[in-house]
Amino acid sequence: MQRSNRDETDGPAELVLRGGAVLALDAAGTRGTAVAVRRGRVVLVGSDAEVQPLIGAGTRVIELDGRAVIPGINDSHLHGSWLGALWPDTVFGAMGGQGDAVAFEGDPHDAAPAAPLITSAGEARAAILRAGRLAASLGITSYTEPGLGPGEDAGATGCFGQLVLDEYRALAAERALTARVTVLMLFGVLDGPSELGSFTARLNATVRETGQPDWLRIAGVKIFADGIPPMLQAWTHRSYPDGSSGDLLVAGADIAEREASLRQMISAAHLAGFQVGVHATGDRSIEVVADAVAHAQAAAPAELRHYVIHGDLVARETLSAMARLDMGLNVQAGIAVLTAPWLAGVLGEEAAADAWPVAEALAAGVSLSLSSDAPVLSPDWREGIAAADAWMGAPAPGAEEERMLALLHAYTVAPARQDGAEAWKGSLEPGKVADLVVLAADPLTVAPAELPDVAVDLTVVDGEVVFEREAALVG
Ligand SMILES: [Zn+2]
Repeated sequence: MQRSNRDETDGPAELVLRGGAVLALDAAGTRGTAVAVRRGRVVLVGSDAEVQPLIGAGTRVIELDGRAVIPGINDSHLHGSWLGALWPDTVFGAMGGQGDAVAFEGDPHDAAPAAPLITSAGEARAAILRAGRLAASLGITSYTEPGLGPGEDAGATGCFGQLVLDEYRALAAERALTARVTVLMLFGVLDGPSELGSFTARLNATVRETGQPDWLRIAGVKIFADGIPPMLQAWTHRSYPDGSSGDLLVAGADIAEREASLRQMISAAHLAGFQVGVHATGDRSIEVVADAVAHAQAAAPAELRHYVIHGDLVARETLSAMARLDMGLNVQAGIAVLTAPWLAGVLGEEAAADAWPVAEALAAGVSLSLSSDAPVLSPDWREGIAAADAWMGAPAPGAEEERMLALLHAYTVAPARQDGAEAWKGSLEPGKVADLVVLAADPLTVAPAELPDVAVDLTVVDGEVVFEREAALVG
């Protein structure tokens, strides 16, 4: 099937990839053997014969030889500056690695270094650029910085303050970013408390204009509702071994006041036109978040794509409410796989088995985005897909392809929706940006567990090649 907005007066394509398996991941499920790119946009996804007329003297033609093309990966929760400063270390790596039975030492975000990792604009720039090179090498063409702002100006890592945001602004103005970045502002402390008065003041003081909205978009605000279950901090209807049920992180004299403040923060951000991403893990806190969004939407309907981050203990009824409210769920399957034993240790096996209901969220119609939370985990989305597949359990016989497509959607189409950008990115369609990845093999022909072995050969952002494996091997 040919999808094209070809205009003969527009001249030849700058880039053509042909002779492979092109997965457009569009609503029609378009598959082709070739894709053509002109002026940063997809011109056509179709057959080799269909792209032939678009090949001119100046066209770079890449022979896929059976390799695959998919839309660029959007890691919708990735701490870029922190990753760039820390890599190749990751927080889970430092905690004992891939699922070793180490004692849980604390919230992964709280792995405070002895000295700040970033103390100057130069160090911020170097970290962002390093994360960009790493992202390009993995096929990541968009990511969300989930929390940068004044709340972390005195933070222990130095990775989340205004300094870092200013450097993103500078790099965007210089057109020096190689991935499109969405930012959630942070008005409180990362993984810590926030206070309604300063939240509202900082909300009102935020300048969101970046001058390069396709490359750097300050979309909204991150709010920390609660901590995480292994620390007995997720606010839940269940009971921890010590009889407690967790709490909210938002400041307040008692739980009622903390809940009221959380609701007011969500409502204030919504009214100001900010997307709200809430770090919420307990069933109770997620219930409150969904209800606060329901009230905000009833008072002033707006398509802001609010979403829950992590969502460990989200209840099935809350998933239905989230779907009705057009709320997203942003899950890190690798964290589920690694921390489920700790969760079982504090809330029991049944709670662990019910946690991170990825399949149920999809079935309920919630827009599910998968992400790495890097450098908590490695930013390798191929490992993220393998982990999600493992977490979901084996698909029904014959549903393997459907499973892989759903997981690829959760790294492309769904996060574009989270970004409010599905009209121009997330799938390979004529007129959308040419953000794409060449994989050494068609992901629909490999088991998810084997996807991490499929090499990323080429990454294109905005029609420009930002990574080539062959060149990287030589260089
Ligand atoms: Zn995070």
